[in-house]
Amino acid sequence: MSEPLSLSVKEVTENIRHAAEAAGRDPGDVRLVAASKTVPADRLIDAISAGVQTFGENRVQEAAAKWPQVRAEHPGVELHLIGPLQSNKASVAVRLFDVIQSLDTTKLAQTLVRCRDNGVTLPRLLCQVNIGEEPQKAGVLPEDVEHFVRDCQHSHGLELIGLMCIPPQGQDPTPYFTRLARMRDWLGMEHCSMGMSGDYVEAVRHGATMVRVGSGIFGGRTSL
Ligand SMILES: *Cc1c(COP(=O)(O)O)cnc(C)c1O
Repeated sequence: MSEPLSLSVKEVTENIRHAAEAAGRDPGDVRLVAASKTVPADRLIDAISAGVQTFGENRVQEAAAKWPQVRAEHPGVELHLIGPLQSNKASVAVRLFDVIQSLDTTKLAQTLVRCRDNGVTLPRLLCQVNIGEEPQKAGVLPEDVEHFVRDCQHSHGLELIGLMCIPPQGQDPTPYFTRLARMRDWLGMEHCSMGMSGDYVEAVRHGATMVRVGSGIFGGRTSL
């Protein structure tokens, strides 16, 4: 038995609106990205019916299996890649996603350039930042972000529209959110993708323009 999604979508949407207003921000500047890894197609359609317009997937293969048919019937929906992208999956990913939030290596940037040179219109791109400087985590180290972003722009002609991060687990995320927002401002970018089910309200307070909420909408996951 599935819970109706309309309630959780409404609650998350309201929380985002309140947090934005309390911070003196326009709620329209914060986009809810429903993190839908492991969520089957019928639940995706329920979420679309409940008003979700943007979804984030972690795995190219899973997204390629689930989304083409759903999107054919719901053409307004936007799809973001929020998980790691290996270069050998890039040519599939650039055709499938509207936004790739996980650009974090020069090698991947070069692969994207080759896709573009082959005539593909690239998705919009965010640079993933390893904001907690955790050895096991993906993302560009904070000290290298400016160089990486400028190199993507100037050497490769890639336009990056923002930064994304996943702060260390089990710590107060606030300092990490603040730091990412400052870097975004410094680099003159529009977007900060930060905040998940447990901390999206804080993220909105500190400048998030995209929050990635999974279990808070779809309930618990059994895997990944
Ligand atoms: C799964 C996932 C989320 C959402 O996590 P929840 O805690 O379920 O909201 C957000 N971002 C990324 C990158 C994820 O993999």
